[in-house]
Amino acid sequence: MGTFEDVVINAKSAAVTVGKEAGRLVDISKLRFTAAELQREVSKKHEALGRMVYDAYKSGSSANISFDEHICAIDDLYKKIDDVNDKINTLRRKSACPKCGFRNDDKAVFCSQCGAKLGSEANPDDNTVPSGPSADSDFTADASAADNNFSGED
Ligand SMILES: [Zn+2]
Repeated sequence: MGTFEDVVINAKSAAVTVGKEAGRLVDISKLRFTAAELQREVSKKHEALGRMVYDAYKSGSSANISFDEHICAIDDLYKKIDDVNDKINTLRRKSACPKCGFRNDDKAVFCSQCGAKLGSEANPDDNTVPSGPSADSDFTADASAADNNFSGED
């Protein structure tokens, strides 16, 4: 029965789990911060681009300037934001159970709360379409067999 050592060991493993969880949360918040910064950068670039267009229009030289560089820079930032968001999603998906939301250990394959299978790195075939015999067959053998079987109690 629950010895003192058991309690200590449980407390220790719980502490490790909490530590890992905290680390992951820190990672996520760091990534969120990065995403926010990139988002701000995009806004700045948009603003600069808008100003450029305005100035060019005002000075009548809009045909001469190239926006390619600025567009590329913004696209680059968008790509970075996508990357960061992907990382955030991976970190979140890793830990949280899709069914009950319980946060499991990194290496957990099944949820320790409800037993659901956890998506690991990626979830390639998430849309599992139930394949099997659909109940739409015209096979009415059952009905015809039972139909003329009105033999009474002979
Ligand atoms: Zn679960």
